[in-house]
Amino acid sequence: VGSLRDIREAHRQRVIDVVRDHGPISRAHLQAVTALSRTTVAAVVGELLSSGFAIELPAPPAANPARPGRPPMLLSLNAGAAGALGIDIGRHQIRVAVADLAWTVLAERVAELDDGRSADRTLEAVVRLAEEVLDASGLSRSRIVGAVVGLPGPVARGKVPAGSLLHDWAGVRATDELSLRLGVPVEIDNDANLAALGELAVGAAQGLEDIVYVRVSWGIGAGIVLGGRIHRGASGLAGEIGHINVEPDGRLCACGNRGCLGTVAALGPMLDLLRPVHGAGLTPADMRDLAIAGDPAVQRVIGDAGGEIGRVLAGLCHAINPSAIVVGGELASAGPALLEGIRGELQRSAVTLVFEPLSVTPGVLGERASLVGALATIIADRERLRSLGLFALADPPARAS
Ligand SMILES: [Zn+2]
Repeated sequence: VGSLRDIREAHRQRVIDVVRDHGPISRAHLQAVTALSRTTVAAVVGELLSSGFAIELPAPPAANPARPGRPPMLLSLNAGAAGALGIDIGRHQIRVAVADLAWTVLAERVAELDDGRSADRTLEAVVRLAEEVLDASGLSRSRIVGAVVGLPGPVARGKVPAGSLLHDWAGVRATDELSLRLGVPVEIDNDANLAALGELAVGAAQGLEDIVYVRVSWGIGAGIVLGGRIHRGASGLAGEIGHINVEPDGRLCACGNRGCLGTVAALGPMLDLLRPVHGAGLTPADMRDLAIAGDPAVQRVIGDAGGEIGRVLAGLCHAINPSAIVVGGELASAGPALLEGIRGELQRSAVTLVFEPLSVTPGVLGERASLVGALATIIADRERLRSLGLFALADPPARAS
């Protein structure tokens, strides 16, 4: 029985591939190109039409001038037959988007979050924004095959583990709660993991298999991709490089240890160092502008932070030997200081065979990286789509730059 289903699925995939690559196509032409029997093509096409995966359009009149009367119908794929909901919950913002299976973002919104908002109130805001975006997308709920939610902390087996810094979220049944309220299947993941998947699918790491995405923001976190898959670890903590110790007797970290990487190289400690020079009101956006304008104090602080991060990454690179490090966060677009700091330290402390194949590049998805990764978790996962009886209707778009 399995093999019969496999054959039917292979035929269906063959028809989909031809319609996708060829564009609108007549049944006769489809049969010729796929080299499948007329009955098989008719069966597959019937199934695609009834499930809404394909639509029929009349051929333009010029296509068949010799035969007036009713134009032949051409078969075309309907990317809007299904879609995915992506949600990124940051410390200060929520981003939500709906995309169809051809990677077209149908609707996207951003909302600000007050500081210190509880998990329950954040979930309420998420539901409200998601409903707005679903309505704006024009896709009915029944067409949404799933939602993926990014959280700014570790996630293990769909839950925030007790003892993590997102303590307010531990024990909150976010997946169940959101599934119930949004009416679609929901899964949650760490935001750096999702950003890594986003850059892998349509961004700076497209086509690569082993990468580290590192986000330098209010905290420092990494998404580790090995063999094309996210490495999560036993308790979801893989990639939490911001808590690697770099100063044995350093500043106290929220995790309870001293001298974590995040206490010396995240946005907070950088701003602390710069405030005596640039004033108490200095923001990350100011810092970026000053870095681009060539301010020496800002460049020095960002470069030093890059060096600290680079030293930690060198250790990680010796352990997993990636082909790329993709850097995201507010300062990735702040001129070369951060990347040069990271690259310089990697070159100094990594052995040649680890450093030489390694590219250190800024992410291309910016603040949307985790959101795009949430969508990619569904849209770029052909196996998942197949298991849902769906098909990837398009390859990921080529990277923007
Ligand atoms: Zn820590």
